[in-house]
Amino acid sequence: MKKRFVSLIAVMAIVLTVLTVLTGCQSVSEVQKSTEDAGEVNIYTTRHYDTDEELYSKFTKETGIKVNIVSDKALVSIEKIKEQGENVQADVFITSDAGNLANAKSEDILQPISSQTLNNNIPEKYRDVDDYWFGLTKRARVLLYSKDRVTNDELKTLTYSSLVNDERWKDKVLVRSSSNIYNQSLVASFIKTMGEEKTVEWVAKLKTQMAKNPEGNDRDQAVAIKDGIGDIAIANSYYYGQIANETDKTSEYYGVSDMVNIYFPNQGENESGVHVNISGVGVIKNASNKENAIKLIEFLSEAEQQEIFSATNYEFPVNKDAKTSDLLQSWLDNQGITELKEQDINLSVLGDNNAKAYEIMTAANWDSPKK
Ligand code: FE
Repeated sequence: MKKRFVSLIAVMAIVLTVLTVLTGCQSVSEVQKSTEDAGEVNIYTTRHYDTDEELYSKFTKETGIKVNIVSDKALVSIEKIKEQGENVQADVFITSDAGNLANAKSEDILQPISSQTLNNNIPEKYRDVDDYWFGLTKRARVLLYSKDRVTNDELKTLTYSSLVNDERWKDKVLVRSSSNIYNQSLVASFIKTMGEEKTVEWVAKLKTQMAKNPEGNDRDQAVAIKDGIGDIAIANSYYYGQIANETDKTSEYYGVSDMVNIYFPNQGENESGVHVNISGVGVIKNASNKENAIKLIEFLSEAEQQEIFSATNYEFPVNKDAKTSDLLQSWLDNQGITELKEQDINLSVLGDNNAKAYEIMTAANWDSPKK
């Protein structure tokens, strides 16, 4: 009896062990299966920042979804996506500037996305009116100025308007060319905020204030201030962050922020607010991994990721729950800004007015004021 009891225990033990092994095997294969099932998502991006790649790896770690990236200029990506048609190889299009996103929408390469998460995380003014694209980060088109030559009193009256009307800035303003989408979007925003006639006037007057013919990128305008070529420049805010954090002593941008500061114009009570643009994203029309594409965009819109964009790429979060990084906050604090006043426009306007803006800039001969 005792013997039978022992052998029964032994049989039970063997059964248990086999069951455990079987269950164990099953759970391992399930993990493998779920990783395989997570699949992939393919991105066409015009952004080339380390921050973005770090966030994609974080996404893969958290979801198991593999991220493949192709980088190109906006127009090249849009053309490629159009050519590939129904066999498109990418699922997500990421680019800077609402003008580029609006262009992607009008070229019919995106599809509308209905997501409560995105609607919650991204304020309406940073989303396409038909949900074809979504803003992920904000950048202000600010004024950079010479710390030595521009006084605090002069800053007090400095606006987009005084920049072109005040004799003080004659032959002192630096700006890049009209082919640049950031400038086109700035002018497109003015068509909405001040009307077409006044925008034509603004562009014509800006030309007479330019220190030299437009050339180089936004950061090069800051270098020209350091070199004494002009006193004030139009540039995107995150470039000032890049300059301020330049650690390569051989870089032409190294130390420029010692001589140049950042200023957010049009913050007064009766002012229009600073021009704010976005970097944003859309799901490609014939995407084969649509669900993963939406998951990625929702992930990037979460406060945690938004704070990483702000801390490491010097962009402002679009998600109100995300904290603006200390550096960006210090810029606002220095100017006594408690809440940044932005132009009160839906950014879809930048796409709608892009062609008109470029026409105005070309007609005014923006690129060769000095002949
Ligand atoms: Fe840029």
